Amino acid sequence: MPASYQIIDHSYDAVVVGAGGSGLRATMGIAESGLKTACITKVFPTRSHTVAAQGGIAASLGNNSPDHWSWHMYDTVKGSDWLGDQDAIEYLCREAPAAVYELEHAGVPFSRNDDGTIYQRPFGGHMQNMGEGPPVQRTCAAADRTGHAMLHALYQQSLKYDADFYVEYFALDLIMENGVCRGVIALCMETGAIHRFRAHSVVLATGGYGRCYFSATSAHTCTGDGNAMVLRAGLPLQDMEFVQFHPTGIYGAGVLITEGARGEGGYLTNSEGERFMERYAPSAKDLASRDVVSRSMALEMREGRGVGKNGDHIWLHLDHIDPKVLHERLPGITETGKIFAGVDLTRQPLPVTPTVHYNMGGIPTNYHGEVVHLKNGDPDAIVPGLFAVGEAACVSVHGANRLGSNSLIDLVVFGRATGLRLRETLKPGKSHNPLPKGSEELSISRLDKFRHAAGGSPTAEIRVDMQRTMQKHCAVFRDNALLSEGQEKIAATYARLGDVGVKDRSLIWNTDLVETLELDNLLAQSVVTMESAANRTESRGAHVNEDYPDRNDGEWMKHTIATFAGWGGTGGKVDIAYRPVHDYTLTDDATYIKPKKRVY
Ligand SMILES: Cc1cc2nc3c(=O)[nH]c(=O)nc-3n(C[C@H](O)[C@H](O)[C@H](O)COP(=O)(O)OP(=O)(O)OC[C@H]3O[C@@H](n4cnc5c(N)ncnc54)[C@H](O)[C@@H]3O)c2cc1C
Repeated sequence: MPASYQIIDHSYDAVVVGAGGSGLRATMGIAESGLKTACITKVFPTRSHTVAAQGGIAASLGNNSPDHWSWHMYDTVKGSDWLGDQDAIEYLCREAPAAVYELEHAGVPFSRNDDGTIYQRPFGGHMQNMGEGPPVQRTCAAADRTGHAMLHALYQQSLKYDADFYVEYFALDLIMENGVCRGVIALCMETGAIHRFRAHSVVLATGGYGRCYFSATSAHTCTGDGNAMVLRAGLPLQDMEFVQFHPTGIYGAGVLITEGARGEGGYLTNSEGERFMERYAPSAKDLASRDVVSRSMALEMREGRGVGKNGDHIWLHLDHIDPKVLHERLPGITETGKIFAGVDLTRQPLPVTPTVHYNMGGIPTNYHGEVVHLKNGDPDAIVPGLFAVGEAACVSVHGANRLGSNSLIDLVVFGRATGLRLRETLKPGKSHNPLPKGSEELSISRLDKFRHAAGGSPTAEIRVDMQRTMQKHCAVFRDNALLSEGQEKIAATYARLGDVGVKDRSLIWNTDLVETLELDNLLAQSVVTMESAANRTESRGAHVNEDYPDRNDGEWMKHTIATFAGWGGTGGKVDIAYRPVHDYTLTDDATYIKPKKRVY
């Protein structure tokens, strides 16, 4: 090992990687149960992408319209296009109200009704009466800054319970020994020291990987580092072909306008001034689920009814809504419209287009947050010591398509579940075995390789190459030809990493190095996403292959499980296996929801 690496050791009962909504909720719960807990994060906790969540968090409180957890469960199963695991979905929807009240008590300043209860707004795909309608008001909101409010409350609570925070530490890799997770290695970006965290449990809460694509609502930090750490440990990722496009990203800027805008009465029109969603989703209209609305918009544009000089966007109207209501319920997006589209949305429509927003796929887990993999024929075998929560995880409650406001609730319900599981299974202060010899070698060899990389391709150039390929070949509409060309192109882009050039050799505040590590992570996930998409010969939820336009339950009601080999710019190699969808509920209080055609 080169003498230039300083190694600092730590021991904890549990280490959480990530301080977004899911990581903080897990940290708070684990620390509260008396376990010695560390939370490692590459950005300051309240700068995690959760801060950008606007619209709100779903729970069947029934404050603004009648509701029941079983209706929420029905909508989530239907939204998932029957790829979601129904035991986990039951858990999510039953626990959701308690999780929201906990947030309220933790200090989240929810918007209120006149009677003092939490205000709830309608959101896409959320209906009353087991999908029959009318739309339900299920989404609890703190104006249009719900994620911001959640992060602040959860961070403060985690500090109260004495969790240790390692801020601006970049997690590099898991420490694995004989299939058991023993800890994690991180780079302190300020000092350049390597930190070796020994832990009985590691919780990955590292968020999504939206930055594989050119136009995404996600922050620049959404590079799916935890997902890639899992791949490097030889473990699989699940359902990576399912990438959600949000219907209303601001055209050109990619910045999100929350679905809450349509929840509050906003609607879409084409170049003929037609409210075209009435044709595609006669009942839910503009509040159909996201995959349906995004596809309808793409079809309108494809058939020449897009707006603007290139016919490449759609109008979102809010100009008919009372400015007082806009000011009270959607203050943030009024500002966003002005800054990013130069539009006064009280008078003019906003130009919008479908934009990458969320990753349904990720690290497979059960409803306790425990990471699972295929072992000796058991598709639900647990990886001891490893948990995943939030957008990084695939529980799977969102299946092939997530409903709006169902992610924030997923973060807190499963963040909390992980804390509960650890409270049951881990005693505070349990002694540690010594770490396996050379546990930092994988991390250091990657740092060494990229730090000294002197090739002709700048990181930023390879990244744009990857993002354009994903945007063109793995988007709202896919077909065999597009995908097979995409497979070739993304493998070639990954191979270019062998020729990357990193400008600075330092370990201290070397942003070029960190971005290269992130790019390595993104590229592996891009390859896995493209291969998983090419492999699934049906259309379901967010994955549409026009050569197979129908959902094929006979053959494809199963999760894709992909592992990755061939690191280091060799082009990568993906192996695909399957896990059955859980077609059973958690308790007898819920009824299994049988597959049927999905109409809104
Ligand atoms: C603009 C926008 C608006 C949204 N609005 C809503 C909404 O209204 N309702 C809803 O339900 N959902 C919404 N979503 C989705 C939801 O906000 C996200 O899915 C969710 O916030 C993800 O939370 P998370 O805890 O999984 O990860 P994040 O909040 O993304 O946090 C990831 C954490 O991991 C850390 N991390 C990552 N890699 C490393 C590493 N290598 N080392 C150390 N730390 C690392 C980061 O520092 C960060 O703390 C929205 C998403 C976007 C992009």
